[in-house]
Amino acid sequence: MKRPIEWQIANVKAVKQETPRVKTFTLTLPDWLPHRAGQHYDVRLTAPDGYQAQRSYSIASEPERMGEIDLTVERLEDGEVSSYMHEVLARGDQIEVRGPIGGYFVWESMQGGPLLLVAGGSGVVPLMAMIRHRQRSGSDVPTRLLYSSRTPDDVIYFEELDELRAMDSGLEVIHTFTRRQPPGWKGYARRIDAQMLDEVIAPLGKMPRVFICGPTLLVESAANSLVEISVPTSQIRTERFGPSGA
Ligand SMILES: Cc1cc2nc3c(=O)[nH]c(=O)nc-3n(C[C@H](O)[C@H](O)[C@H](O)COP(=O)(O)OP(=O)(O)OC[C@H]3O[C@@H](n4cnc5c(N)ncnc54)[C@H](O)[C@@H]3O)c2cc1C
Repeated sequence: MKRPIEWQIANVKAVKQETPRVKTFTLTLPDWLPHRAGQHYDVRLTAPDGYQAQRSYSIASEPERMGEIDLTVERLEDGEVSSYMHEVLARGDQIEVRGPIGGYFVWESMQGGPLLLVAGGSGVVPLMAMIRHRQRSGSDVPTRLLYSSRTPDDVIYFEELDELRAMDSGLEVIHTFTRRQPPGWKGYARRIDAQMLDEVIAPLGKMPRVFICGPTLLVESAANSLVEISVPTSQIRTERFGPSGA
């Protein structure tokens, strides 16, 4: 019988500053359940007067890591929950969560590939869970991550992605920087569009499994562009994090 997903109190084991606006929270869970890469947890905050705020955060870590999960959260200036997590939540604190949740935007290595992962900003989080799971499970399915960031300083998991790519010929990471590029940059320097997707998808053929995640506008535009270049909609899965943040 399927178990209902209950709220539980997680302990904050570690907090890591990933970029100026992004932190990763490692949570240990008394009632840990194995997740599938791409799933999320709900976080619930309760004020002393009983007011509650609840938001979803994708699991960044791979399911092979037992007993704990990583949530990677971008701080929004006027964001109720993300600001609290960035400004208040510290190692040793507790926080209420429930999960894992979601069964559509998921990838397990036994499903195979090839994989085209398309990320905008913090939309890279569930895709990172897929990349980490791919590596930990020994999968060698050809995988390309197209990752749009405003500037090089905004790239989350930059070093880890670079290391994984260096040791794995089946993994490619393609950055596009929309606002500021590194000196001498010869790569993409614009928003994701049909031409870019056509170039990035080419080595994978027209039938990879596609996962797109990020701000709503980026996700919709990337999905439409893929359909324009004849990728079947049945191959495309999307996850929208919210407003464009543009
Ligand atoms: C399935 C799912 C998974 C998610 N995973 C992650 C994750 O891994 N990491 C992460 O950082 N976020 C993730 N999000 C987004 C997250 O749930 C919150 O929406 C986000 O943190 C904003 O919440 P807040 O309370 O801080 O801001 P709010 O108080 O809700 O909003 C503050 C302001 O920001 C705008 N806003 C709300 N959400 C966004 C957004 N995503 N982008 C830009 N502007 C926004 C609002 O319109 C408002 O003006 C996910 C969302 C979904 C649905």
